Amino acid sequence: MKTITEQKPFDEIKAALGEAEKVYLVGCGTCATMCHTGGKSELLGMKDKVETIGKKVTGWMVIPTACDELTRDALIESAEDIEAADCILVMACAFGVQTVTLYLNKPVYPALNTLFIGREESPGCFTEVCMQCGSCVLAKTAGICPLVRCAKSLLNGPCGGSVDGKCEISPDTSCAWQLIYDRLAAQGQLDKLEEIEPIKDWSTSQSGGPRKVTL
Ligand code: SF4
Ligand code: SF4
Repeated sequence: MKTITEQKPFDEIKAALGEAEKVYLVGCGTCATMCHTGGKSELLGMKDKVETIGKKVTGWMVIPTACDELTRDALIESAEDIEAADCILVMACAFGVQTVTLYLNKPVYPALNTLFIGREESPGCFTEVCMQCGSCVLAKTAGICPLVRCAKSLLNGPCGGSVDGKCEISPDTSCAWQLIYDRLAAQGQLDKLEEIEPIKDWSTSQSGGPRKVTL
């Protein structure tokens, strides 16, 4: 899984830091490093910015995988520098931020916006692949997610607005339902398009409240 992130505007970060005088920085060596939002160079860049507004950085580290439970051990190793800080600024996805929050009794602030689960299609170009709806229809749509790839999230597409295989929202965006049609055709499965997908039950998504799985 790759969680795609982008750095928040520095003014927003500055507002979150508020009156804090000393800050400890945490990055993530997995997704955020891949996205160039929370690796070593981004942390050092953030350190400069935070110091520019008159705050002291008591230390920083890039945790191998910030959402992992080993984060706890990493935080213990740097306990002294963390203790010296008024707050923690985390350059990881929201999962990483919440993992750090779990183990520290200090204010923890996100420096990144968590955008989506995605794939790196070409260097530096990330595309959303799944919104975790909780009721996957990929078996009927040739492995292409209509919820994230179609601008209208149609489950019974296409909408009729595509031109030359491109979505009506932009000539740079492929029509998801054209992609689905082409792939089903290549696999001799066009009959799947004759089945009407019923209205989606969104209670399996985050719309149904916090989700929990117990094994
Ligand atoms: S149908 Fe739902 S679970 Fe399947 S890829 Fe799309 S968003 Fe993800
Ligand atoms: S043109 Fe295709 S991708 Fe765009 S909204 Fe219509 S069906 Fe969805």
